[in-house]
Amino acid sequence: MAVRATIIRFPGDQDALEESGLPWGVTVSPFATKDENGNPPVYGSDGHQLPRCENCWAYYNTYCEQEQWAWTCSLCGTLNGLSNQAITRYSLPESCPENVSSFIDLELPMEESEEMPARPVYVAAVDLASSEEFLELVKSALLAALEALGPGSLFGLATFSHKIGLYDVQGPIPVVKNVFIPHDSDGTVSMELQDVMPLLSFLAPVDTCKDRIASALETLRPTTSWERNSGAGQGLDGVFLGGRGFGSAMEALFSYLGSEYGNTFALARVFAFLSGAPDIGAGQLDTRRYGEQYASRREDADRALLPEQTPFYKDLAAVAVQSGVCVDIFAVTNEYTDLASLKFLSIESGGSLFFYTSTDDSTLPQDMYRMLSRPYAFNCVLRLRTSSEFQPSHSVRFSSSLLIPLILILLSRLAHNTCTISQQYGHFFPDPQYENVQHIICCDSFATYAYDFEFANNVGFSRHTGELPMLQIAFQYTVVVPPDELANVGSNSTRAKHSLKRRLRIRTLQFGVAHSINEIYDSVDSEVVLSLLVHKVILASLEQGVREGRMLLHDWLVILTAQYNDACKLIQSGHGGSTGVHIDVAFSQCPQLQPLPRLVFALLRNPLLRLHEEGVHPDYRIYLQCLYSALEPSSLNRAIYPLLTSYASLDKQAYPRHSLSRAALITSGSPIFFLDAFTNLIVFYASTADPSLPFPPPQDCLLRTTINKLKQERCITPKLTFIKGGQDDATAFENYLIEEQDVEGSGFTSVMGFVSFLEEINQSTLEYLK
Ligand SMILES: [Zn+2]
Repeated sequence: MAVRATIIRFPGDQDALEESGLPWGVTVSPFATKDENGNPPVYGSDGHQLPRCENCWAYYNTYCEQEQWAWTCSLCGTLNGLSNQAITRYSLPESCPENVSSFIDLELPMEESEEMPARPVYVAAVDLASSEEFLELVKSALLAALEALGPGSLFGLATFSHKIGLYDVQGPIPVVKNVFIPHDSDGTVSMELQDVMPLLSFLAPVDTCKDRIASALETLRPTTSWERNSGAGQGLDGVFLGGRGFGSAMEALFSYLGSEYGNTFALARVFAFLSGAPDIGAGQLDTRRYGEQYASRREDADRALLPEQTPFYKDLAAVAVQSGVCVDIFAVTNEYTDLASLKFLSIESGGSLFFYTSTDDSTLPQDMYRMLSRPYAFNCVLRLRTSSEFQPSHSVRFSSSLLIPLILILLSRLAHNTCTISQQYGHFFPDPQYENVQHIICCDSFATYAYDFEFANNVGFSRHTGELPMLQIAFQYTVVVPPDELANVGSNSTRAKHSLKRRLRIRTLQFGVAHSINEIYDSVDSEVVLSLLVHKVILASLEQGVREGRMLLHDWLVILTAQYNDACKLIQSGHGGSTGVHIDVAFSQCPQLQPLPRLVFALLRNPLLRLHEEGVHPDYRIYLQCLYSALEPSSLNRAIYPLLTSYASLDKQAYPRHSLSRAALITSGSPIFFLDAFTNLIVFYASTADPSLPFPPPQDCLLRTTINKLKQERCITPKLTFIKGGQDDATAFENYLIEEQDVEGSGFTSVMGFVSFLEEINQSTLEYLK
């Protein structure tokens, strides 16, 4: 479990927080195997016996003072009695993980009902209203998946178009049975899938049926236009319908699988391969809104098709969760698919959303293999507790307290948006009953969540008692343990049996308190600040539009600059008149703040926040929102401000970091550049590079080793491109050189991009200070 705070030394009180202009919060990656410093938890058992505070329910931890019969809670200060059981437990204190480390992972006993055969179940649902190329890609992805699935897994193959197809591969020849999907949006599939094919015929053991599954995959063909015409008919207004009954198919599939939930499996994962928007049956989507927006701009261009057009997929996600199903959506399409409506099905059921605009260079098979090869936790409960002076924030959206000084200016903008929610971000469900409790259906070690903090009252952290702010995060989760990890070697089972393990992971952290604004600024973690900003602008652009999100981000930087200049007493009147007032926009006295103006500029240049007029596809924007809102801070930084390094030769690095500008390239004089933009890796050979340099770089050089290591460590497979300057089209690389680009995207201006952006921030800060 990795936990990182925006400010390591917390502000003393509300005034200090507002004075700083910084967001105050943390990011949490609960299933990360190590903490943010690379230390693993101390493992143990009997998590249910861990003493808890009778006042705040925090768990006993290393920061608590223990006496012979009692302990004092490090979060709320309550004195708690120790039970006889605990006294026995603590007679040998060093034998208990909770006395050894503030990061522990304890086994919990399973309830009787939970002790069931926990076979991992995977179902592929393949779109047949598609093309040969699409199906070829899906086949290679599923063949890769079969290699990654552990022994004892069950696999089912289903297809959808104007009908649902179910495959039984357990007999001598694969059998497929079909059921038609009604066209109208309120029609349900006429027959229960269980009556079409018993579920246990559909779910085949991967161990014995791998080859047969592979041959069944070979038989997949796109529906022909004849089939579609007879099956799906012509749509209204003569518009041709692809006949893609995705919503109906998913609905039927969940109720089909749900019958074995808690019996055969504890979590079933559905891989939905989609080549376009659902256009028949339940959950059909109107894709004409995309064309209308471009044609007439009748749609709200600022919101750029970000809101969903139907609650169907959000509701369907709830059904999936109740059926023990988690859905991963793999959209491979260059058509408008309305991921804004579809995304809920994946992110709310604990799955991921993958989006590929082309079948040619798609990393789908690699992504699939990696996703299935890494461990995941499910049925998770994440609970955050704080010491009494502060709490997770429940403030007005985006305008967390730091924006309050600007609220008068923004009043007209914010007036229509005053509803309150708790400021917690990431792919989870808030508990309907308890505050600060999140349910996570399924997550891997990369999944990251974020919280904003606020003061619980106007007292703040006391300077007299010396009590420091405490944070405790409890994460309860279930994992499937494969048979070979179990100790019962020699048991006569020839059939691999999986078991479920329930665990409780607890991390307790103590933070310092800053005694001056300079101490706050010196303890800023700019990567975490960016993470919180990204969450806030995603939320703001979903609700109020992209333009609004950009404005809020810009204003935030203006306020920070003003507060910093004010706090550091940097504002001096120059040689008469306001023109001489000097504003330090580069944060020259505070290294920790220095990355922020660049990061804000880069975020404004990111497709996440580029204006609709710049041609950002709405589906791509939604994909980025989903991806970014689950990334841990360092990865997110890489995605927003890519890392550009240069190499003197294939085996020797020249500079570890360049700013993203053409000027930096030219002045460095290096022959080779390597750009890491998280989803993309680009190797660029300067046009002046020695022509005898091998291209592309061979496998045995330092550059390749670096690239391979990066690919290995990442949650998604980055796309690798090699570009030879002067010969190949270098646009893909040059687009990342943002610092000469105009921040509003109106092309290359006569003034330099980032430089003029800073000048503009300077002007706005002066106006704000007036
Ligand atoms: Zn307590």
